[in-house]
Amino acid sequence: MPTETSPAAPAENPFAALVSPTVLDLKSYVPGKPIEELQREKGLDRVVKLASNENPLGPPPAASAALTACGPQLHRYPDGYGFELKTLLARHWSVAVENVVLGNGSSEILEMAVRLLVRPGRSVVVASPSFSIYELTVQAQGGEVRRVPLHDHAVDLDGILAAVDDSTSLVILGNPNNPTGTVFRRRPWEAFLAALPRRVGVLLDEAYAEYADTPEFPVGREYLDETRPLLVARTFSKAYGLAALRIGYGLAPRGLVDYMNRLRLPFNTNSAAQAAARAALGDHDHVVRSRELNRQGRERLYRFCAARGLEWVPSEANFVLVRVPRAGAVAEALLDHGVIVRWTASFGMPEWLRVTVGSAVELECFETALIAVLAAQGLWRGGD
Ligand SMILES: *Cc1c(COP(=O)(O)O)cnc(C)c1O
Repeated sequence: MPTETSPAAPAENPFAALVSPTVLDLKSYVPGKPIEELQREKGLDRVVKLASNENPLGPPPAASAALTACGPQLHRYPDGYGFELKTLLARHWSVAVENVVLGNGSSEILEMAVRLLVRPGRSVVVASPSFSIYELTVQAQGGEVRRVPLHDHAVDLDGILAAVDDSTSLVILGNPNNPTGTVFRRRPWEAFLAALPRRVGVLLDEAYAEYADTPEFPVGREYLDETRPLLVARTFSKAYGLAALRIGYGLAPRGLVDYMNRLRLPFNTNSAAQAAARAALGDHDHVVRSRELNRQGRERLYRFCAARGLEWVPSEANFVLVRVPRAGAVAEALLDHGVIVRWTASFGMPEWLRVTVGSAVELECFETALIAVLAAQGLWRGGD
């Protein structure tokens, strides 16, 4: 029976009394709209998706080939330890195999780390806005989320430090941060680490690190320490172009990797993903090309925004925040033109759109559609 004070959905759910109150309060993650769904809804042939920060170059060709080669072995369970992939990753990063844990996307690494280090009564400090999965996983664990507002769209490491107290078991930081694309640099990061009590865990999400250009970018791997609870999460979903396969990994002290191996389900990463990731890791040129295409696309978007008098946030990632009037209505209207971008209201930034740096052709579609939409809504002076 719905009451006046409770939200409708949980109260109407006949199983609401069976589940933990923690779960009742959770909100589902909202992914970018799939291309096929928009094509069906609007009867469109061509849809450009710039909402999920996918790689416009596609997967590395060697990864597609490796995937095909998996066919005859699909009846076999995967290698539950992912030995070959972990060995390659250990070599790639100059760490021991015991410092590597594989995940079903790096989202699973984030979740495992939170399950490991957070429990009711403990607090977790995050920057706000940042990736919603951070808060979602902490809430699912019954932990308290402490949000520290960004400063000039960037993570405020001093503010994060100030929010840490005796109850804090973990700090979660994205570098670059999603949805702003900003980074913190080596000096402030090192000062932060030096000042943070060593018992507090640090989960460093480096999903977009391959795109960061600043020479002062602090690569998390360099700060691994067998006696400090610092974990680095990396993914094959973005610069490596394998989002569909759900494969990512964590680099962490042996002690933490040991516990994560106890927590994780036995076959959390599948054979196809492991094989494609091994091939992708060997194709360094693909990452270089992805980075270069991204750099050009970012510059193109900046020039477009500058020419049109639109504010943007300079990005070290593969997406750019663009401020447009009535952003929600504009994002909706862009769908009619077959262009999917992310309205960042769910991140607490309702005046902005997050636009993935697509190929030149995709960005041109976005620009043309945005001009048309702003003109049609009377939000544009000239029309073109
Ligand atoms: C895309 C993304 C990831 C990676 O997610 P996967 O589960 O590896 O696909 C992690 N963190 C952030 C902030 C992201 O935007």
